[in-house]
Formats: sequence, structure tokens, C-alpha cells
Amino acid sequence: MPRPIRARIDRAALLHNYLLAKSRTPGSRAWAVVKANAYGHGLMHAADALADAADGFALLDLAEAVTLREAGIRQPILLLEGFFTAEDLELVAEHRLSVVVHRLEQLQILRQVGLPVRVPVYVKLNTGMNRLGFRPESLGALREELAKSQAVGDITLMTHFAEADGDRLSGRGIDWQLQAFAAMAGEWRGPVSLANSAAILRHPKTARDWVRPGIMLYGGSPFADESADQLGLRPVMTLASEIIAVQAIATGERVGYGGTFVADREMRVGVVACGYADGYPRHAPTGTPVLVGGRRTRTLGRVSMDMLAVDLTDFREAGVGTPVTLWGEGLPADEVATAAGTISYELFCALAGRVPIEAV
Ligand SMILES: *Cc1c(COP(=O)(O)O)cnc(C)c1O
Repeated sequence: MPRPIRARIDRAALLHNYLLAKSRTPGSRAWAVVKANAYGHGLMHAADALADAADGFALLDLAEAVTLREAGIRQPILLLEGFFTAEDLELVAEHRLSVVVHRLEQLQILRQVGLPVRVPVYVKLNTGMNRLGFRPESLGALREELAKSQAVGDITLMTHFAEADGDRLSGRGIDWQLQAFAAMAGEWRGPVSLANSAAILRHPKTARDWVRPGIMLYGGSPFADESADQLGLRPVMTLASEIIAVQAIATGERVGYGGTFVADREMRVGVVACGYADGYPRHAPTGTPVLVGGRRTRTLGRVSMDMLAVDLTDFREAGVGTPVTLWGEGLPADEVATAAGTISYELFCALAGRVPIEAV
């Protein structure tokens, strides 16, 4: 028998969430962002769910892009960090990939390699996030290089928002970056791609030609002040396991490494086959929500490598074999993430390779 932990992926929910992104941005096409193994959901499960619906797939890893092509995906595929070496370009051309270009050197490599095809290019502008992209003072050199190149196909201008999820009262939002983008784009009349999930949901005027939904596809809310449910998103990954042992403890006894939880009464403690080696956050404190037999209770003490403890004191019916939901259907990953001081993105991406993924 394998350990009872598994991640169930609801493909219908993923499709629902993609179509929600489309319905919010009706004039736009949408890259389904499937980087990081589809935010931990399994690249091919996501690709299967969206194979007929997606306008395109965006990710980082060249090998994953090739995997999608070899699985029969025909839509455009965009490499969000572009290529890294001249050798990468052979596969880019062979598999008809689109590439983000964020440094002049990438365009120089593209020109020098002399590919037999023109590569569709997303030119990334740095409008203030200061991660990737061309700054205003480098636009002259960019224009010159683009004019010289025989290898650049259709060009799209893109940028990425740093604070699209800022709440309505504080934070700078998107307008400052939109202004920077407009100033840099100048007379550009070609296609534009700006919006991530937060912008799609809260600033749909930014939709333009292509949007780039990521976390919303997986049913995570990009916002601290609005839940996935309120946004109409459905959970895609349910991390499920079972109770594998029960301890009856007396007042004053402690639970787990470091003895950080002390019982203030007689308690029943359930031990769940799920720990940080499965991707559950070790820093989730006592009180992090968890479902046992569909009912909400709390974790107790420190998360171990392979196990964690939950409070079964008021759960007389629960015992060895009772199903446990760590997050997903009935318990939003966002709530668990908040309790652990992180975001659902990180919970999903951290799902460990040893956890079997089952698509339904
Ligand atoms: C990851 C990523 C996205 C998706 O962001 P979400 O916040 O998950 O919607 C969009 N664009 C780029 C360039 C990205 O790297």
C-alpha cells in the first residue's frame, strides 16, 4: 500500500477558471500560464484540461515546451524568460516557439544564429518592477537591433505588473506602470500583453491583445482581501490524506518536535500522513485549518517531515482511515497559505514529487 496522501486535480475546474479569465477579457486571447509544472498541478494534466480551450501556453522551461509539442499541443507556446543560449534556438525554431526577449544580447544571438524561420518575439519592457526588461534609455539600441534582424517575426510588446494585487486603499496599483508603458511604447500600434491574474480580475481595462492568467487558473486568489470563491474561481488541486494514528493525551502533555503545543485539557490527537517533505509548509503554526471527515479542525504543534498532528478532541467519529483534506475542495489553499504566512502560489509549487497526482 502506498501512503494515503495524493493530490487530486479537477480538470473541469481548471477549464472553468480559464473560461472565467476569458469571459472577463472578451476581446483578448489568453496565454494559459503553466510554468513551474503548472503551478505544481502537473504540466500534462493542465495541458489536457485546456487542450481544446487555450489560445496558447506560456512557461519557462524549454524542455517543458518541447514536451507540450510532442504531446500534440498545436497552439502557440511562449517562453516567458526567452532562451538562454544559441543552442536553445534550434529547438525554438523546430518547435515553433515564441520567446520573450528582455535583453539586447538575446536579440543579437537570434540575429547571429541565422535560423531558417522567423521567431515570434515578445519584447519585454521594464516599466518599474525592475526584474526583467528594457529600460527607457535602452529603447534606441533595441529599435536598431530589431531593424537589423532577419530572425524576428511578429513582435508583441509586454510588461509585467508589480502591484496589480494591491488592495484598493493602499498600494500603487497599475496606473503608474501603464503610464510608463505608454511612454515607452510611443507610436506602437502592434499587439500588447500586460495583464496577469490580478490585473485580469481587478483591472480588466489592461486586457489588450493577450492576457496571461496564472494563479487564477488553479483557483487561487491573487488578492489578500477577496477570496477565490468571491471571484467565482473553483479549486483545482485537493491535497488529501488520512489519519494514520490517534493519541489520547492528558492535560499538560505536549505534541510533536519541540513540544510547542501543550494540551490544556484531555485531548484526542490525530496523526496525518502529510508533512513538509510532501510540500506542506513547515512554518504552518498550531491552528492552521484542516478538514477531517469534511469538518474543519486545526493542526497542533510543529509539522514533521512526513506527518502532522490535528485536533480530534471533538471528533469522536474520526479515527484511523478518516479522510483529511489539507487544502482544496472545502478548504481554500489561500486560507492555509495565509495561516502559514505565505501565498497559495507557494503551496501549490511546493507540492513534492513524491505525492502522486491524480487527475479527475
Ligand atoms: C507567472 C507569470 C504570469 C502569471 O501571473 P499570475 O499572478 O499567476 O497570474 C504572467 N506573466 C508573467 C510574465 C509571469 O511570469
